[in-house]
Amino acid sequence: MLNKLRLLTPGPTPLPESVRLALAKDMVHHRKADFHQFFAKVQENLKLLFGTKEEVLPLSCSGTGAMTAVVYSLFAPNEKVLVVEAGKFGQRWSEICRLRGLNVVVLEIPWGHAVQAEDIAKALANDCSIRGVFLQVSETSTGVLHPVKEVAEITRNLDVLLCLDGISAVGISPCPMDEWGIDVLLTGSQKGLLLPPGLALLALSPRAWDKANSLEPGCFYFNLPAERRKLAQHETNFTSPVNLLAGLEASLDLLLKAGLEAVYRKQWALTMLVRQGIHALGLEPLAATNYTWGLTSVKLPAGIDGKKVLAIAQEQYAVCLAGGQDHLKGRIVRIGHMGWVDWADLLAGLYALKQSLQQAGGFSGSRDYLEKAMASYQAALLVEPGTELPQVMLRS
Ligand SMILES: *Cc1c(COP(=O)(O)O)cnc(C)c1O
Repeated sequence: MLNKLRLLTPGPTPLPESVRLALAKDMVHHRKADFHQFFAKVQENLKLLFGTKEEVLPLSCSGTGAMTAVVYSLFAPNEKVLVVEAGKFGQRWSEICRLRGLNVVVLEIPWGHAVQAEDIAKALANDCSIRGVFLQVSETSTGVLHPVKEVAEITRNLDVLLCLDGISAVGISPCPMDEWGIDVLLTGSQKGLLLPPGLALLALSPRAWDKANSLEPGCFYFNLPAERRKLAQHETNFTSPVNLLAGLEASLDLLLKAGLEAVYRKQWALTMLVRQGIHALGLEPLAATNYTWGLTSVKLPAGIDGKKVLAIAQEQYAVCLAGGQDHLKGRIVRIGHMGWVDWADLLAGLYALKQSLQQAGGFSGSRDYLEKAMASYQAALLVEPGTELPQVMLRS
């Protein structure tokens, strides 16, 4: 009861003080000068975050709303698209595309693995009527990072729009939209952006805009060309989520002042901290390679009830971890390391995980796992983000 609740989940996440105070600001009217001024600044900063010269549109909805907006604005019924299903969120793309009446070709990947760019190249070569590729940058249900840069090298030279769900990647690991040749990048506020849920952000490449402009709107609320026209006047088409945008102004200030390089470096180091910690505990990550930088999925030892582990962590240690989805329910624990969390929160998380596992089934790990985790974190802060630490370190 007297513990501080630690949200180590892949969204929502803890929020920094500057953002919480910004969220509490007085209301301004979304059609007046006060709003236009700060919204214009937010727009410029969003372009830096997304790595694009194009507009970044805010939408009042969770991340799935932006996924819906993309499917309904960029594709007409009966068009053929390729969806990479490597987890729960890949499946969501398929569900939305089918509801829109698209002809969906599924590329299924075992959960815990990343798609290979060659497999996408092959699928596109086999069927030149495919007009879009849908995938996640980071598949949050498994903790996998897909090689989207390599995929974009294929799609940018074809008449195929690459539509990326970057909900657990934007602000967490690099995904420079223009440089990599991505057509659609979207995210939600409650993952890497240090904000509460309820705001989605989305950017389109010039050729994706051409496509959107050529189609009849598929849906009244999510009309992207209409949103873009309003954005030129520093407004949104319908009433803006004023407080969330004030919070976004503060969170972008925080992230951009630190520098995106430093943000990604921190995320990489936290990933190394958690992976080393679970390794030292004798546990295995679900994603052996191609792992994402905002969460780590941990396989539970046989015979341990995952639900019980989560309940003990929450009730006795005030650490909120996430479980698995679908067939991974009860079989993995997902440790979120995105949002306003730092090394100390994750040491607490590792300790809570170890104690909860022990209480749930007699599991016992190594004694100095926290020191090892911390040593990896510090070593990772010194290397180029994405560089594997020497194997000797991980084994020691
Ligand atoms: C969280 C998440 C979603 C779902 O977002 P909502 O905000 O719950 O709609 C979709 N895709 C990915 C990759 C996510 O991490």
